[in-house]
Amino acid sequence: MFSGKKLKYLMYYVTGVLILLIALNSVMKSFGTKHIKYSTFEKMLSEKKIEEVQIRDNELVIVPKSEKDVEKKILYTANIEKQNISTLLDRLKAAGVNYDGPVKNNNPFMNFFLEWILPLLVFMIIGRIIFGSMEKKMGSGVMSFGKNNAKIYAENETGKTFADVAGQDEAKESLVEIVDFLHNSEKYIKIGAKLPKGALLVGPPGTGKTLLAKAVAGEAKVPFFSLSGSSFVEMFVGMGAARVRDLFKQAEEKAPCIVFIDEIDAIGKSRDSGMGGGNDEREQTLNQLLAQMDGFDASKGVVILAATNRPEVLDKALLRPGRFDRRVIVDTPDLKGREAILKVHSKEVKMSDDVNLESVAKATPGAVGADLANMVNEAALLAVKKGRKAVIQEDLEESIEIIIAGKEKKDRIMSDREKRTVAFHEVGHALVAALLKHTDPVHKITIIPRTMGALGYTMQLPEEEKYLVSKEEMTDKITVMLGGRAAEEVEFNAISTGASNDIEKATQTARNMVTIYGMTERFDMMALESVSNRYLDGRPVRNCSAQTEAIIDEETLKIIKESHGKAIKILEDNRELLTAISERLIEKETLMGDEFMEMVNGVFPEESSKNENSEISLDKEEQIEDTKDTKEEQQN
Ligand code: ADP
Ligand code: MG
Ligand code: ZN
Repeated sequence: MFSGKKLKYLMYYVTGVLILLIALNSVMKSFGTKHIKYSTFEKMLSEKKIEEVQIRDNELVIVPKSEKDVEKKILYTANIEKQNISTLLDRLKAAGVNYDGPVKNNNPFMNFFLEWILPLLVFMIIGRIIFGSMEKKMGSGVMSFGKNNAKIYAENETGKTFADVAGQDEAKESLVEIVDFLHNSEKYIKIGAKLPKGALLVGPPGTGKTLLAKAVAGEAKVPFFSLSGSSFVEMFVGMGAARVRDLFKQAEEKAPCIVFIDEIDAIGKSRDSGMGGGNDEREQTLNQLLAQMDGFDASKGVVILAATNRPEVLDKALLRPGRFDRRVIVDTPDLKGREAILKVHSKEVKMSDDVNLESVAKATPGAVGADLANMVNEAALLAVKKGRKAVIQEDLEESIEIIIAGKEKKDRIMSDREKRTVAFHEVGHALVAALLKHTDPVHKITIIPRTMGALGYTMQLPEEEKYLVSKEEMTDKITVMLGGRAAEEVEFNAISTGASNDIEKATQTARNMVTIYGMTERFDMMALESVSNRYLDGRPVRNCSAQTEAIIDEETLKIIKESHGKAIKILEDNRELLTAISERLIEKETLMGDEFMEMVNGVFPEESSKNENSEISLDKEEQIEDTKDTKEEQQN
């Protein structure tokens, strides 16, 4: 850190030393001496009390003779009176006083050296030692201002291996080559193969990019230099570029090694995206980075890894051959991957034998490695809180909910009326889901409010990982989303604000059916908006006229109206069941899937054959497994 703090310490030290030296010198001079008047000296001389006299500069140093009257140890000094000096010597001789002639023992250089230079040297050495140890503790050099002060983290051993990274097999595969290169670079150099200078790890936050980079260094047993892109930008102009230079210098000294630049989008943002003018500092830093990457010799064994979750904003120059020409995709893990990650992390905690990680993985679609690691830890904390010796399944399930829906908010009190509304709303979702064919089974219904804003929720879990969603599934999904509000209408003949989130999601899904997936007769397979092209605020870009947009709205509304009608019909036809389940939910606050299905099956014994796909769309996002309900007043 180029902080004022250390500079301040140094200033204090220097002034302190100087004051101390001055004080010491004056004390030393006056120590054991006593200044007397010249007349007193003359008196002493005539009384023969003087043994010896030294003449120094313009002072007399007098050594007294007797121990009785005057203590022998004390020297006296007196100012010389110039007019008396010639007679003084004669008088001294006559009195039989030894005298040391003028200037003898009086090399001014020697004096100056002894009084100032030598102590200064001593203090400087002490200072070095003190600040040296401070430097080690605080990270960078006090004595070297202006040099690199970046937070470069250098690790000689990361201690991570590929075994620590689960569920990213493809990413690992493409990084194995880099490990091999760092291990035996001669092999490659001999054949004349040019190795990639850098690889870009691309993926959403928490998927294990940093972990992978460390694992590469760990596997290759080389040092790991890491630096975060955002730490470049906060600096003064020019500092970022200096840091880059310094980083590469250090890396070349330590080669073979890995240089890891995290969040590279912070510096590598496209230079011509020009929002609100350029950022000079960032641009300079980026240019320096590009220059360094071109300039250094890859055969030395420095491999640069960078990570980003926004590859689309990166400057094209960064992605050119010879720079980050390799992309390693680190994606959100699938079911198998999640299970593997859970396995890795559950090694660190004591788990009871009957824990079923697969079912935990099933319940957490969309969770990334960091979530899962967090979840396992949360479960361990719960186990401790409940005084258990090992984590059991229940802890894991509770921790899933903590991660997904925020911690249970026990202190929030709902009025009975509110509770009733929420219960019917949730059961509305669940019942519609249970009675439609192309839906995911209900896992849990609860009306316990959560900190994240849901007053209750219905959790549906897919039976298996799905990558394709059929048209029927999409319309049924919309119907389920609208089932909450429909139940309120059927039961209370009134509506509340609690369905805002449902409405938003349902509308979005319906619109996507019209504009992206070609699921309406009216537009057939015409693409009406493109997924890759979005406005800066994330709104999709429509490739159509204003008239067509009006028709899109019409079509969307049609889908929603149909689904809404369907939901109402289902619930009206099963009003007794709706009421019965809702009453049970109000009483118990949480209903598990099997309990719920038991009640449903009491009325519809053979209800469970699902899943026949016909029209299919590619969509992963639509696997929203829970329907959260928010009350507007709660969100504020
Ligand atoms: P990113 O850099 O992609 O944002 P990190 O590498 O920092 O994610 O991951 C954060 C933490 O999450 C890791 O330290 C690790 O504990 C856990 N984690 C993430 N992905 C994985 C994975 N694939 N396997 C095991 N643990 C993971
Ligand atoms: Mg990271
Ligand atoms: Zn709802």
